[in-house]
Amino acid sequence: MTVLTPKSSLTPVKYKAYIGGEWVEAAGGATFESEDPFSGDIWALVPRCGKAEVDAAADAAHKAFVSGAWPTMTATARGQLMHRLGDLILQNAEHLAEIEVRDNGKLMAEMLGQVKYLAQWYYYFGGLADKIEGAVIPIDKPSVLNYTRREPLGACAMIVPWNSPLLLLSWKLAPALAAGNTAVVKPSEFTSCSTLEFAKLIEAAGFPPGVFNVVTGFGAETGEPLVSHPKIAKVAFTGGDASGKRVYQTAAGHLKPVTLELGGKSPNIVFDDCVIDDAVKGAVSGIFAASGQTCIAGSRLLVQQSIHDEFVDRLVKFAGTAKLGDPRLMTTQVGPITTRPQHKKVLDYIAVGQQEGATIALGGKPAEVEGSRSGLFVQPSIFTGVSNRMRIAQEEIFGPVLSIIPFKDEDEAVAIANDTIYGLAAGVWTQSIRRAINVSNNVRAGTVWVNTYRAVSYMSPFGGYKNSGIGRESGLHAIDEYLQTKSVWINTALETPNPFALR
Ligand code: NAD
Repeated sequence: MTVLTPKSSLTPVKYKAYIGGEWVEAAGGATFESEDPFSGDIWALVPRCGKAEVDAAADAAHKAFVSGAWPTMTATARGQLMHRLGDLILQNAEHLAEIEVRDNGKLMAEMLGQVKYLAQWYYYFGGLADKIEGAVIPIDKPSVLNYTRREPLGACAMIVPWNSPLLLLSWKLAPALAAGNTAVVKPSEFTSCSTLEFAKLIEAAGFPPGVFNVVTGFGAETGEPLVSHPKIAKVAFTGGDASGKRVYQTAAGHLKPVTLELGGKSPNIVFDDCVIDDAVKGAVSGIFAASGQTCIAGSRLLVQQSIHDEFVDRLVKFAGTAKLGDPRLMTTQVGPITTRPQHKKVLDYIAVGQQEGATIALGGKPAEVEGSRSGLFVQPSIFTGVSNRMRIAQEEIFGPVLSIIPFKDEDEAVAIANDTIYGLAAGVWTQSIRRAINVSNNVRAGTVWVNTYRAVSYMSPFGGYKNSGIGRESGLHAIDEYLQTKSVWINTALETPNPFALR
C-alpha cells in the first residue's frame, strides 16, 4: 500500500497540518520553508500554525480522549493498533529515512537503520498496553475494598527538536498511546516534514481521528500556546535547556506535569589501560557521528595524561580521514549542519575556543563539499589544551567540535566529569572492571557507556541528571510518565459509620 507523498521534484512539496483526522492549512494558507541542508534547495513548504490551529488540535485531542472510539477501546486493541503502526513504519522505512535525510541532513547510512528501529518502540509499548495494572490494597480498615487504577493523563503535548525528529517523537508517543493518552505534536520548525509523513501512517493504521495531531510552526507562535493550552494535560519536551526552562515555567503556570530531555556536555573518559584503537573509535562516534548534533555527544574528551599525546595523535589521524559528503550516499560519514543558525553557532564556538587559548589540532573551519550549495558543512574539529573552565568545555556546542582535557588519575577524571551543569551521558574506556564500575557509579549522568558509546534502546531508560532534564524515556517505567493513579474505596459495611469522624 502506498500511503506516502511522492518524492519531491524541484517544486517544493506543500504539506498540511494534521488535526482531528483532517489535513488542513494554517489560517490564510500561511507557510514557511524547509531547506535541504545539503543542496540548499527549498524542498518543502510547511503550514505556519498559530493559536487557531493549536486550539483546534488541543480540542481534537481532548475530544478524542474523552469520547469516541479511543477511550472505549480495550487496551489489547490499542496495543494491536500500535503493532500495526510498527508494521507500517517498517514497510515505509526507506521513504521516511529519505525525508529525514532531505529535511535534516542526517546520513542515509544511519537513518535507514534508525527508522526501522523506531518500530520497536511501538511493538514494545504496544505490548505493554494491556499490562498496565493497578493493585488491590490490603487496606487497614474493616469492610472496605480499596484498589488502584492507573489512568492516562489526557491530551499530551509533544515538542521535539530537529536533530532526530521521529526517534525523539517515538520515545514520547509510544508510551503515551500505550497508556491511553492522545497527542498533539509540534516538531521543530527546521524539520517538520517527517512527522507529517508519519501522520499518514497513523491514519493508515486506523487510529481514531484526534488521537494524533500535528501542528507545525515556531516555538513562540505554536509551541507556547500549546504548552499553556487548558486542554493539554501534560508536556513532553526535548530541546535546548533555555527553551526547556521556558516550557517548564509556562507549564508550571498551569500546574502541568512535564518531562524534559535537554542538553548535555558529556564526558568521554579515556584511561591509560584502555584498548586505544577502540577508544579512538569511541571518541569519534561520540562527537563526529551525526556531525556532533546529538544531545549525548561526547563533547568533552577526558584523556589520562600518561597516554594523552599518543592518543591525540591517533585520534587526529583517524578523525582526519572522515569523509564529508552528500548524506544520501552510503559512503558519507559526516553530513552538513542542519540549520543556518546552528552552523553559525558552531563556527562562533570555534572562534571562542581560539580566543580562550585552546589549540586547534584538527579542522576549525567551514568545509567545502562537492555538490553541496548550502554552505552548511563544518570540518570535524578538535581542540587540545582545553581547561574545564573554558566555555568550549562548559557550553553545549551541538556540532562536530571536540574539547580534549587531560587528567591525572581516576579521582580527577570524575571531578572534571562532574564539573558541569549537565548530566546526560558519559563514556568510560578502561579494561579494569573495578575502575569501570567505580567510575560509572560516581559520574552523575543518566546514561554511562563502558567501552562503547551512543547506544540506546526502547528497553533501557534514557534521561538526564541535573540540567539535562526531568524524567525518563524508554524502558518499562517510561509509561509511568503518562499515567496517574486513582485510589478507589468501596464500602461493603452493612451499617453507615459515624459521619463526623475520618474513616
Ligand atoms: P530548541 O530548544 O530550540 O527547540 C526544540 C523545540 O522546542 C522546537 O520544536 C521549538 O520550536 C520548540 N520551542 C522553542 N521554544 C519554545 C517555547 N518557548 N515553547 C514551546 N516550544 C518551544 O532546541 P533545538 O535547537 O531544536 O534542538 C537542539 C537541543 O535539543 C540541544 O540542546 C540538544 O541537546 C537537545 N536535545 C536533547 C535530547 C535529549 O534527549 N536530552 C535529544 C535531542 C536533542
